[in-house]
Amino acid sequence: MDKLTIRDADVAGKRVFVRVDFNVPLADGRVTDDSRIRAAIPTILTLVQAGAKVILASHLGRPNGKVSDSLRLRPVGQRLTELLRRNVPVTGDALGLGTEDALKRMRPGEILLLENLRFHAEEEANDPAFAATLASYADIFVNDAFGSAHRAHASTVGIAKILPAYAGLLMERELTMLSKLLEAPERPFAAILGGAKVSDKLKVIDHLITKVDLLVLGGGMANTFLLAQGKAIGKSLAEPDRVQDAQRILAKAERNKVRVVLPVDVIVAKEVTRGTEYKTLQAEKIPASWHIVDLGKASQDLMVDALSNVKTVFWNGPLGVFEIPSFAHGTNAVARLLADRAEHGATVVIGGGDSVASITQQGLADKMTHISTGGGASLEFLEGRDLPGVSVLLDRPKEPKPARAPKPKAATPVKPAAAKARPAQTAAAAAAKATAKAAATKTPAKHAVKAATKPAATKPAATKPAATKPAATKPAPKGGAKGLAKASTKPAAAKASAKPAAKAARKPAVAKAAAKPAAKAGTKPAATVVTKPGSTGRTAKADGKPPTKQAATKQAATKRTPTKPTATKTKAAGSRARTEKRS
Ligand code: ADP
Ligand code: MG
Repeated sequence: MDKLTIRDADVAGKRVFVRVDFNVPLADGRVTDDSRIRAAIPTILTLVQAGAKVILASHLGRPNGKVSDSLRLRPVGQRLTELLRRNVPVTGDALGLGTEDALKRMRPGEILLLENLRFHAEEEANDPAFAATLASYADIFVNDAFGSAHRAHASTVGIAKILPAYAGLLMERELTMLSKLLEAPERPFAAILGGAKVSDKLKVIDHLITKVDLLVLGGGMANTFLLAQGKAIGKSLAEPDRVQDAQRILAKAERNKVRVVLPVDVIVAKEVTRGTEYKTLQAEKIPASWHIVDLGKASQDLMVDALSNVKTVFWNGPLGVFEIPSFAHGTNAVARLLADRAEHGATVVIGGGDSVASITQQGLADKMTHISTGGGASLEFLEGRDLPGVSVLLDRPKEPKPARAPKPKAATPVKPAAAKARPAQTAAAAAAKATAKAAATKTPAKHAVKAATKPAATKPAATKPAATKPAATKPAPKGGAKGLAKASTKPAAAKASAKPAAKAARKPAVAKAAAKPAAKAGTKPAATVVTKPGSTGRTAKADGKPPTKQAATKQAATKRTPTKPTATKTKAAGSRARTEKRS
């Protein structure tokens, strides 16, 4: 992961604003599925144990900028209190004097949950003043809300431009798992896409088709593909205006030698309801009055067989109307197969609210490698797009290239290592220079060599003696790349005034190669070999955007909070080599 995480931050005694995704289902004032709350616990406990004051903030539902009593976070606070066995009070509002008082009273290790952020329209509008107020609550920002990372809101993007911004542990895990799918999947690699609407998933299919060996399509969205093949689908859910897209995708799959598996037989029902009449038919000529609602047995067998040797799978979208048990057979059969594949060492990643619900319903969630907490976010990530809530987090400084020059032998005249590395202008050279300078005139060569071969960023800041000083009081590194080694381990160190200089200095000198193992194709079964046009000639590029002006927000931010120093904008893992534009 190329973003700094809470492990890199010195949080002891600090006020830490943690954006979590507690957008959970509620019924009768109780949380009915607490998976998203549980998923945030590692981050919360890590911060609590490190002595931070933990300010949690989330949205819940769509109150559209108005207070809605049914969307208050109190049930979430109660569930969190039970899970953590610590009191988690919830404020009556995300803003206001009561909240400010509660914040002032917080002691290290305590937790406070702010009321639903979306009671304020300014949240979704990414209003700078609202973001500045949220930022004024804290010294450090942590984003653990992967499920909201595709939204540029005040609590995901606005605040992260003001405070030093780190990824939480859930965010880290999500990005690591999803990046693995795009960057180094073990093969054969399959994508299974189902669910209701093909239009929601066209972009992700378009992108994944350049990555996978096998594409399995089911659910309502497969109907549009059946239409594209000239088949009659009766009254089934479909998007006729997407037939051309479906045809284009099928042609692209053929060009890329990706095997596409579509239903060959289907369960059709008179109505999409419980207790309706239903039967199995070939997926060719569905009579006009019937709806496709599930895979037939032959389709299940075909898909299970096609997936039987996969090493990596991404699944989004149920393969039938799984909410009705009679129409959940296809979804269940594939889920059982995937649980088995995961138990045999395959990487199985599942995203999408309904997909996850179907797997949880079968008690198979624990067997999968990774259940993503973000449906939309995981799809956007796999479309190859930058997620705004991720891009804005602090970048992990690139590992310096090891100095190429051999170590000086004792007999040869010793040149300072820093000088040797200089011509290459690598980050290592900069690190060497900075460390050597810091060590004054004691043993410059020795220190420099050490710095050049050991990337500063791989050392957790917390292990460095200097990191025990309050980060905000540390002066900014002055002057270009010289400050790199120090600043890279102490992201909270720079003063606001040093921001532009620090930014320029931290543009990575060497772009990270997004190399794909070239030998992979050789290991694939002949029938599913894919040629990936997108996989060659991929170039990494740093995002050379000028620093964003935060005039309105800076004023509030600089009063109380350090400005993040490592604001270099490189692209998020997994998307750095692609050319798609962010939405
Ligand atoms: P996810 O939430 O996992 O991303 P979607 O929201 O895209 O999945 O789709 C889930 C919905 O698709 C479910 O409500 C399911 O009933 C519906 N669905 C699946 N197959 C069909 C079908 N053949 N006809 C109508 N709806 C379907
Ligand atoms: Mg859904």
